[in-house]
Amino acid sequence: MKEKEIIIIGCGMSGLGAAHQLRENGLESKIFDKQPYFGGQTASFTKDGWTFDIGPHISFSKDDTIKALLADGVDGKFLEIKAGVNNYWQGHWIKHPAQVNLHGLPSDLVTTIIIEFIEASKKNTDKSKIKTFKEWLYASFGETFAETFPMKYGIKFHTVHADKMSIEWLGPRLYQPKMKEIVYGAVSPQSPDVHYISDFRYPEEGGYVSFLQKFKQKSDISLNSKVININPEDKKVTFEDGKVVNYEHLISSMPLPVIIPMIKGVPDNVLKASQELTCSNCVLVNIGIDRADILDAVWTYFYDEDIIFTRLNFPHVQSPNNVPEGCGSIQAEIYFSDKYKPLEQKPEEFVDRTIADLRKCGLIKENDKILYKETRHIEYANVIFDLDTKKNTKIVHDYLDEKDIEYCGRYGEWAYIWTDQSFRSGMNAGKKVLRKLEKNNK
Ligand SMILES: Cc1cc2nc3c(=O)[nH]c(=O)nc-3n(C[C@H](O)[C@H](O)[C@H](O)COP(=O)(O)OP(=O)(O)OC[C@H]3O[C@@H](n4cnc5c(N)ncnc54)[C@H](O)[C@@H]3O)c2cc1C
Repeated sequence: MKEKEIIIIGCGMSGLGAAHQLRENGLESKIFDKQPYFGGQTASFTKDGWTFDIGPHISFSKDDTIKALLADGVDGKFLEIKAGVNNYWQGHWIKHPAQVNLHGLPSDLVTTIIIEFIEASKKNTDKSKIKTFKEWLYASFGETFAETFPMKYGIKFHTVHADKMSIEWLGPRLYQPKMKEIVYGAVSPQSPDVHYISDFRYPEEGGYVSFLQKFKQKSDISLNSKVININPEDKKVTFEDGKVVNYEHLISSMPLPVIIPMIKGVPDNVLKASQELTCSNCVLVNIGIDRADILDAVWTYFYDEDIIFTRLNFPHVQSPNNVPEGCGSIQAEIYFSDKYKPLEQKPEEFVDRTIADLRKCGLIKENDKILYKETRHIEYANVIFDLDTKKNTKIVHDYLDEKDIEYCGRYGEWAYIWTDQSFRSGMNAGKKVLRKLEKNNK
């Protein structure tokens, strides 16, 4: 190894994005990742003909540059699929989003939701003054819809009550309908599609990670390389196996609560802020069965407390090559968080309950043969935006800026961002390094 280098920690979307940006400008970098596989959160695993990603992963990017890079990654061999999304609530299958698809739900509930939506619209609350997710939901939809759907789902997904969450993460995630759309969806079973994801791309073979194969070939990646210590004064990174690497510039996509305690001399207030940042973790239960006609949807949200999983996706719908011929697959997500809902069981202990709940909602039938079962644990899943997240993230980011460490990606920015945004975030970190090098060379 050369004496001083550009080091990137993490070979997920953002680490690869940073390396890509540097390479495009004629600079080499070296990527290290603690895992034995590449791709980070976008890795895919195939065993006995069954392919599962780490949680549902599809590319719905509108970013033409990223779309072209991913398409090139699979030499144009990807599928383009319409995003069929639905919801399950108390035995009803409801097209997504529920607020404009109330048709078929109990009449009393639909009537109350419509009346409260009108009342909430009349109040015309100034949303710029709203602080919590709960207030935002009440102002947008009225109490009954908020409490029956998004707040129930929110507890299962974010693990925390809506009154403890801020709203800076929302973006296009919750559709805000016009009155006419709500009424139309209540009286008609055929509502127009309004979900923010209309269609998506997915590789024909090998799962989502196939999109990244070319980046893997072009990058200098060391796997099984866990960083345990960073000394920003001497510009040294120490690995678990004792190896020490000098760097000139350092880009990290590690989660903020992971990187901060590693930094030599970190002040107590920064350490405290990093430890108050909270993320959900997720148990994935992957199931394979002997038929493919499971459900006419790519993914489904579950609201009921007595159903263990929060969301299901069906990898064989993303690509038929994700399963042995004629089979179907289901991936269930069950969320936890250290702060609000600690995981107290081993992932494999969730398999039987998941299968029982799949039977309860009719997705696995009596005669179906279960051909495949496995579990996986996602250590860092979705950032939880509680009321102190913004303040604590700023403290941590300011400190990293002071120590000249670039941060990127979903867990470096500490943001609710998708694969394309994570790749861009890595590219931006690469650009910052380029600007510094340019300045130093003047
Ligand atoms: C359940 C779920 C579903 C999602 N679905 C979609 C989707 O459908 N479409 C979409 O576009 N996006 C989706 N996303 C978001 C997407 O996964 C992320 O935006 C993206 O993968 C984040 O990439 P990253 O490089 O920022 O982070 P990561 O992929 O997490 O990369 C960080 C890397 O750092 C490494 N690392 C951590 N600590 C150390 C250490 N001490 N030493 C060395 N290496 C270390 C990790 O091993 C990891 O590889 C989803 C996310 C989740 C959780």
